[in-house]
Amino acid sequence: MNADYLELTNLTVSFDGFVAVDRVNMSVLPGDLRFLIGPNGAGKTTLIDAVSGLVPATGAARWAGENLVGRKVHRIARLGVGRTFQTATVFEELTVAQNLDIAAGARRGPLTLARRRTSLPEVVVKAMETIGLTDLADALAGTLSHGQKQWLEIGMVLVQDARLIMLDEPVAGMSAEEKDETGRLLQRIAADLTVVVVEHDMDFMRAFATSVTVLHAGKVLAEGSVAQVQADPRVQEVYLGP
Ligand code: ADP
Repeated sequence: MNADYLELTNLTVSFDGFVAVDRVNMSVLPGDLRFLIGPNGAGKTTLIDAVSGLVPATGAARWAGENLVGRKVHRIARLGVGRTFQTATVFEELTVAQNLDIAAGARRGPLTLARRRTSLPEVVVKAMETIGLTDLADALAGTLSHGQKQWLEIGMVLVQDARLIMLDEPVAGMSAEEKDETGRLLQRIAADLTVVVVEHDMDFMRAFATSVTVLHAGKVLAEGSVAQVQADPRVQEVYLGP
């Protein structure tokens, strides 16, 4: 069994008795570009929060031969689990290269800023190529477009050697061109890594998902290819009403 295989078994998250994620079973393989969709409040963000260790859960989330449930956030990150948030959290007053270098440094250990070095670490150079920001290496992050900031945040996860990447609504607020660019970026990443994308944008999902899990009221309502979940009457009901 490939170790880079995410397997959730009865994953459950409760907030004061309210069950936000309800016995979810879900498996994601490397090479898959899995979209996690569902109406507002379905439990999508809570699910990836639980896998990243940000909220306590019960059940199991197996990754790299370990159950992540009950592990601390930094330990989970060390196992190669990374995620982005709905609002990109980049250092606006630092350059693209410095942001990536700091993120890589968080993994390496002692913090050393790129400006003290004559050349950038290979991992930073590679990440800038992957996210398409090589030409903007010396631009301040604060001057980037909304889309470029999101790509930088993805790069900051990549340089930390993440092998499982979970993204929370990566194309929210992006232009059509930026969405297309992001889809191609995710396809490049998914060729080598395991990727889970929480998304509201159905056109984006249709264009880029290789498989889809639909959550509703904390439970898995449907799973399969885009065509399969779109044809599912239960999914249509949740999105369109009975
Ligand atoms: P989605 O991402 O699918 O829109 P969420 O995972 O954000 O849904 O939320 C799922 C449900 O859990 C919602 O009803 C939300 O109000 C609730 N919830 C999320 N986080 C908390 C929390 N920290 N405390 C209490 N309830 C929460």
